[in-house]
Amino acid sequence: MKKLFVKTYGCQMNAYDSAKMADLLAPLGYAATDAPDGADMLILNFCHIRETATEKVYSELGRLKSLKAEKARDGGRMLLAVAGCVAQAEGEEIVARQPAVDLVVGPQSYHRLPEMIARAARQQGHALETDFPALEKFDSLPEPSATGVSAFLTVQEGCDKFCTFCVVPYTRGSEQSRPPQAILREARQLAGKGARELVLLGQNVNAYNGPSSDNKRWSLARLCDALAGIEGIARIRYTTSHPRDMADDLIAAHGENPKLMPYLHLPVQSGSDAVLEAMNRQHTSDDYRRLVERIRSRRPDIALTSDFIVGFPGESDADFQATLQLVRDIGYATAFSFKYSKRPGTPASTMRKQVPEELKAARLDELQKLLLAQQYAFDDSQIGKTVAVLFEKPARRDAQLMGRTPYLQPVHVQAGPEMIGRLAQVRIERRTANSLHGTLAGKGVLA
Ligand code: SF4
Repeated sequence: MKKLFVKTYGCQMNAYDSAKMADLLAPLGYAATDAPDGADMLILNFCHIRETATEKVYSELGRLKSLKAEKARDGGRMLLAVAGCVAQAEGEEIVARQPAVDLVVGPQSYHRLPEMIARAARQQGHALETDFPALEKFDSLPEPSATGVSAFLTVQEGCDKFCTFCVVPYTRGSEQSRPPQAILREARQLAGKGARELVLLGQNVNAYNGPSSDNKRWSLARLCDALAGIEGIARIRYTTSHPRDMADDLIAAHGENPKLMPYLHLPVQSGSDAVLEAMNRQHTSDDYRRLVERIRSRRPDIALTSDFIVGFPGESDADFQATLQLVRDIGYATAFSFKYSKRPGTPASTMRKQVPEELKAARLDELQKLLLAQQYAFDDSQIGKTVAVLFEKPARRDAQLMGRTPYLQPVHVQAGPEMIGRLAQVRIERRTANSLHGTLAGKGVLA
């Protein structure tokens, strides 16, 4: 077997793509290894969401180049590949800056890796693929070789929203939805290999509009209904959603489809209408508040999470206060928050009135304190309750397993390995900084 080392940096879609690349290369004799030394192929699958990601790739390449030289001295050949959004955005520039790179492959083209490897071997030069063939890659991917209890499944890619801070529309292309039949097939394969939870992925997952074989278009709600019918699948989640695409049938599904978990990542980014407009988010803060009300009217216990960017160009103190107010009004179960950082090529990167770094840092600190207090309050609200937990893997402590509540909170429970992949009732007893702790309630096993 040849050794394959894939280093992934970025979102869940990158993790999904890395697993798919490994599956794709398995028939060529590549088996995954967890260290780069001596590997026959190294792939850096990096997200381009921050400016620093590109520099990270170049510094990693500088380090890996010496491993490649070492392998050549021993008479072997190490193929060095850059994949993901960084590959898409940088293209030829990568090879110009680091000639040791053999392959540059964008996120829509990695199904061509086997052919690129052959090309690179023949020519002893580099191969580059950064086309946007519409979802063609999914038709070429092999059956998933393995899965965890919780499995990612890409249903949609790309974005047409063009938020002014984001590179996704440029690196992943326009919104494309996979046909529902292909998704159902992959879901059955995953269930057959032990997946009990599906996490449907898409940059704008709730814009899903899949072309069915009967010439009809399926919404995400309809897709979730069909997935819920697959034997073995106990839970369905999806991420990431845009507030504008939260359709009525999807909101209703949260009240009607028992396998659709009461958890929704619904990024708002800012609570200021002026900033939302400058970001081109295409909704106001009150649109978002009303949307949350509608969702909670169908599923009152839903755990909401969001992304926030602080220090967007032009953000005033009043704008930032509006963000804090929105957070207080909504009450989040958890959230991700970042200082604005320029992504090259995006409109916001050249906007005037960039906010000084110290001010961004102070605002981020204030926002994160508020979000953390809300997270602890939400976690504490589970103490004393009995909730369904799906066990995923052994925890770090002996004889404990890590599972998740319907609200995606990690829970540590004393239980044997036979419980992995099972749902059980767990009584939540306490919280530590990052997780809940509980005990199996009675016999407990649900499925
Ligand atoms: S909707 Fe999301 S993926 Fe699309 S441009 Fe905005 S932030 Fe980027």
